[in-house]
Amino acid sequence: MSQRPTVVPPKHPRESLLREERLPHIWCSGCGIGTALNCFIGALEKSGLPLDKVVIVSGIGCTGRAAGYIRLDSFHTTHGRAIPFATGLRLANPELKVVIFSGDGDLIAIGGNHFIHAARRNIDMTVVCVNNFNYGMTGGQVGPTTPAMAKTATSPYGNSEHPFNLPYLAAASGAVYVARWTTLHVRRLERSLTEALLKEGFSFVEVISPCPTYFDRMNRLGEGLDMMKFYRESSEIVHGLDPRKVDIDLGGKIIVGKFIDIEKPTYLDFQREIQARMEGEPS
Ligand code: SF4
Repeated sequence: MSQRPTVVPPKHPRESLLREERLPHIWCSGCGIGTALNCFIGALEKSGLPLDKVVIVSGIGCTGRAAGYIRLDSFHTTHGRAIPFATGLRLANPELKVVIFSGDGDLIAIGGNHFIHAARRNIDMTVVCVNNFNYGMTGGQVGPTTPAMAKTATSPYGNSEHPFNLPYLAAASGAVYVARWTTLHVRRLERSLTEALLKEGFSFVEVISPCPTYFDRMNRLGEGLDMMKFYRESSEIVHGLDPRKVDIDLGGKIIVGKFIDIEKPTYLDFQREIQARMEGEPS
C-alpha cells in the first residue's frame, strides 16, 4: 500500500510575532484591525528594535485584543488605562520601548485625559489608534470620533456631536510625531509606524479602519472591500499639513500623511537633567 505524503500546513509569514495558539482572532470579516496589526508587525521587524525590549499595551475594545495576539511582552489593561500602564512601564524601566495599540473609544473617550497629558509630558511612547468611528465591541455606539450626523446604535437619527480630530488633538497636546493613514495605505502605514517606533518622545499614528459590522453597515458604506474603494477615492496624501485642517466629515475627504515630526526634550530628558543638577549642587 502506498503511503500518503504528509501535508505540512503552510506557516503564517508573521508566525514569529504572532501567538498562533491564540488564533483564530475575534475580528469580523472585512474589519481593518488585522491589517493595522500586520503593518505594525512589519514596522517592528523593520525598526530593528530588540524585541525583548518592546512592550505592547492595550485597553478594552476590538483593537484592544491585539495585545493578546502578538508575541511580545504584552499587557491587556483596563478600559482607558493603557497609557498610564505604559507610562509606569517606561518610567520604571527606561530601556523599554513602549507601544500602546488600542481603539478610538478606549484611548480618546475614557482614556482621553491620559492621552493629552502623556503627549503634554512628552513621555517616550508610541500610540497607535485604530479609529473605526464607533464602539465596535459593544454594539456600535457613538464615540468621540464618530462624525457629525453619522448613524450609530445610540444615534439612529444621526450624531449631534462634533468629533475629535485626532491628529490635531495629538499635536496640540504636544506630540512630536503625528501621522494618519487608512488600512488601504499599507506600505505607507508600515513606514510611518517604523518612524514612530524610532522616534524619541510621544509619537502618534492614527489608522482609519473599517467596521463593516456596525459603523459601515449603519451608514450604508458597504463591506470591507467597499471601504477600501472608498478610501482610495476619498483619501488625499498631504504631508506637513496643519492638523487643524484634517477634520473628517461623514463620506467626505480623508486627508492622510505625516503632519508633525519635531524634536523636543522628553519627560525623562528633563528628569535626568534635574537629577544631574541636584548631584552637582553642594550639600
Ligand atoms: Fe472590527 Fe467592527 Fe467587528 Fe469590532 S465589531 S471586530 S471593529 S468589524
